[in-house]
Amino acid sequence: MSDPIPAAAALLSTLTDRAPEGVWSAPGRVNLIGEHTDYNEGFVLPFAIGHRTAAAVALRDDDLVRVVSDFADEPVDVSLADLDDAIERGGLDWAAYPLGVAWALRAAAGHGAARGVDIAIASDVPVGAGLSSSAAIESSVASALNDVWDAGLDRVALARIGRIAENDAVGAPTGIMDQMASMLGRADAATFLDCRSLETASVDLGFGAAGLEILVIDTLVKHAHSSGGYRERRASCEAGAAALGVPWLRDVAVADLDRARDLLDDETFRRVRHIVTENQRVLDTVEALRTDGPRAIGELLTASHVSMRDDFEISVAELDLAVETALAAGAIGARMTGGGFGGAAIALLPADRIEDAASAVAHAFATAGYTAPHTFTVTPSEGARRDA
Ligand code: ADP
Ligand code: MG
Repeated sequence: MSDPIPAAAALLSTLTDRAPEGVWSAPGRVNLIGEHTDYNEGFVLPFAIGHRTAAAVALRDDDLVRVVSDFADEPVDVSLADLDDAIERGGLDWAAYPLGVAWALRAAAGHGAARGVDIAIASDVPVGAGLSSSAAIESSVASALNDVWDAGLDRVALARIGRIAENDAVGAPTGIMDQMASMLGRADAATFLDCRSLETASVDLGFGAAGLEILVIDTLVKHAHSSGGYRERRASCEAGAAALGVPWLRDVAVADLDRARDLLDDETFRRVRHIVTENQRVLDTVEALRTDGPRAIGELLTASHVSMRDDFEISVAELDLAVETALAAGAIGARMTGGGFGGAAIALLPADRIEDAASAVAHAFATAGYTAPHTFTVTPSEGARRDA
């Protein structure tokens, strides 16, 4: 796919003769470990990837905000005067992401700051593959408007703007992990996030020096976040916390699990055990990376998958096959990533095993009669930035 930064600039020039103010970009992300822990006020460890969404912006003389994307045919425009009502009315489809960011950022920065703009968006982040193309578009547009409107917001504030857009303008009930990863990423590092305090720490991954790479195996099995399974898991977590007398499962330690087993029905207990042990695995992964390096995290990744498969029950046969095949082909660790019920798995592999592992997975899927998966590598990369 073509480089999204010049592509966004070229797309902008089809929209306006005005010189661009600049081009900003932000990455998608992969969650290395910490699944379904976010809404339990626990820990996650995502990293920003090299796939990026770029937003090129030019000022306008009127008060229109006009957005165009290589993803869609037609530009969409809304006047600043009508922005609140347009968000309220909904039905904006993909344009709800960039217009929702404009709406949320204007509310945070003050209405006086906002000016009419043309925004052209181009991306090489696969859409709907669990790599958070949504956070990439939000973070790129938030970074652009923050500069063009001189809003002076910091990166964490811009991550919150993206989340507000996604929750309130798009209507997707997601946490803030994706936006934080996209805004705060660093090359060859992951972003450790405490979902209670929103404190973050950059944790060196050292994949490059260790000769390791992450292979993504997108099963192409579709997940629907807002659908039954996700809501049911959230409800089980809340019920488990209530029965254990704590506000969130974050407040349950591994040592409390014996007591939990006596108090909870078997299914709720297993849901709780996933969250409690997963939080501990995130902490252990951070510790292992800091003290022993990336080769030490493989077993934690694989244990995370087993927990999601057996206790949280959010894996599917395609994801299990991807993980098993990658491990048999030399992966140090592998797990499904994202909300589950489909989507992608990741495998941590020696760089010289990537090709073999990808073809082993393709072969295993063909033998099982599954749709051929998409496999590609991702590189832990820098977060949102101004490119031009
Ligand atoms: P994911 O974040 O896992 O890729 P989501 O369903 O959360 O999947 O977000 C995907 C949606 O975000 C797309 O359907 C589209 O509406 C919007 N989107 C993402 N990237 C772009 C883009 N480059 N241009 C326009 N819309 C985009
Ligand atoms: Mg998303």
